[in-house]
Amino acid sequence: MPQTVWTILALIRWADERFKKEGMATPRLDAEVLLAETLATDRVGLYTHFDQPLQPDELTRFKEFIRRRLRREPVAYILGRKEFWSLPLRVTPEVLIPRPETETLVAEALKILAPAEGKDFHILEIGTGSGAISVALATELPAATVVATDLSPKALAVAEENALRFGVRERIRLLHGDLFRPVEKGDGFDLIVTNPPYIPRGQFASLMPEVRDYEPKAALDGGKDGLDFFRRVLPAVDEYLRPGGWFLAEMGAGQDPQILKIAEKNADLDSFAFARDLGGIYRVFKARKKYQLDADEHG
Ligand code: SAM
Ligand code: GLN
Repeated sequence: MPQTVWTILALIRWADERFKKEGMATPRLDAEVLLAETLATDRVGLYTHFDQPLQPDELTRFKEFIRRRLRREPVAYILGRKEFWSLPLRVTPEVLIPRPETETLVAEALKILAPAEGKDFHILEIGTGSGAISVALATELPAATVVATDLSPKALAVAEENALRFGVRERIRLLHGDLFRPVEKGDGFDLIVTNPPYIPRGQFASLMPEVRDYEPKAALDGGKDGLDFFRRVLPAVDEYLRPGGWFLAEMGAGQDPQILKIAEKNADLDSFAFARDLGGIYRVFKARKKYQLDADEHG
């Protein structure tokens, strides 16, 4: 009696079909990545061994991955890692999975700071999650020091692991608490950077199940219109920046007019600008703390 031989190629095709039927976004890619993980190889390793059959224990492990993915668990949580800024970061369900859009935020920060690469910049990140932004900036700016905060102690533990993994732990201080609370005033940061929760609460139901059902709500929920974080942070941000220092925040599509309105209420900020992500939408808001000489009230 002929039995199905589960070769690498047969399994990729089978999983691809199953994922497609569920309407998942990247069925073939997910199938390959999960199979490569099962076999401790990479996707090229699969391509060069299409006819290789799996051992029973490998098949069991792969089926478990497929079962989890069919329940819409994100691939990054199944693997426990996600590449960001070319760094394979550790991620757990306690942290937001770093997004490609957030690389735009890192790139904009480096445009401001990198011209003086060897300088000992002082950076604050609010809501560091996996540590993606802070670790990327610390690896790019070898003399910079970073203060990274989060409300979630479990997220901070993941950020610490990533800082250690990429050799920047001694330049990143991890602090637990709400917004600026754990930070000292007058620290005079050159840059404050944040990817805050900015999804309007009403949009939660329509999010992809991967995001809605698996990612931490506290990382995504921006309140009624998504702008709660901006309303709390922007009035105070100048107290933590040095004159001429920058505030950079990731934002959601179409939030630019409202963010500008909130920012303009802070008389100590200027140079407002937005930067587009690779999809062409405004993704990063920028503001600068005025130099004393720029201030209207200066006599
Ligand atoms: N920086 C990471 C990234 O870009 O991938 C995570 C960003 S996630 C959108 C927002 C993070 O901010 C979460 O880790 C969340 O726990 C944290 N957070 C939310 N509200 C906060 C608050 N009021 N103070 C400090 N951190 C906060
Ligand atoms: N870009 C994320 C998403 O659309 C949102 C991240 C955030 O709120 N900062 O799922």
